[in-house]
Amino acid sequence: MTKKGTKIKEKLVNGLGKMRRIYKVYAIPWHVRKKLKGRIGECKRCGACCRLMFDCPALFFENGLACCKIYDKRSKVCRKFPIEPRDLKDRDLINPYTPCGYDFTK
Ligand code: SF4
Ligand code: SF4
Repeated sequence: MTKKGTKIKEKLVNGLGKMRRIYKVYAIPWHVRKKLKGRIGECKRCGACCRLMFDCPALFFENGLACCKIYDKRSKVCRKFPIEPRDLKDRDLINPYTPCGYDFTK
């Protein structure tokens, strides 16, 4: 696949992932709570989840760490990321070299 084709595929995958998380967080929150029980680790502030599909305008970096201009008002979807292992796969398309600080036991 060409570089352009790969970029388009990446945007499509991340667009679908974004819609999936919005649906899950707002329509089936009990499912999200269940999934999060299997999540371990903590955010390393790499910022990859703030660059899915496009770079969030609220994202900035300070001393190499991702920061959010609207941290206290950020959406539930931002707060819950990652919900399940496939979110990590989406996020790895953006930053395959540094893993997310979270992982899943199931
Ligand atoms: S991808 Fe993971 S480690 Fe990086 S900012 Fe998002 S939640 Fe934190
Ligand atoms: S609003 Fe904040 S936490 Fe959400 S994607 Fe943007 S920078 Fe990241």
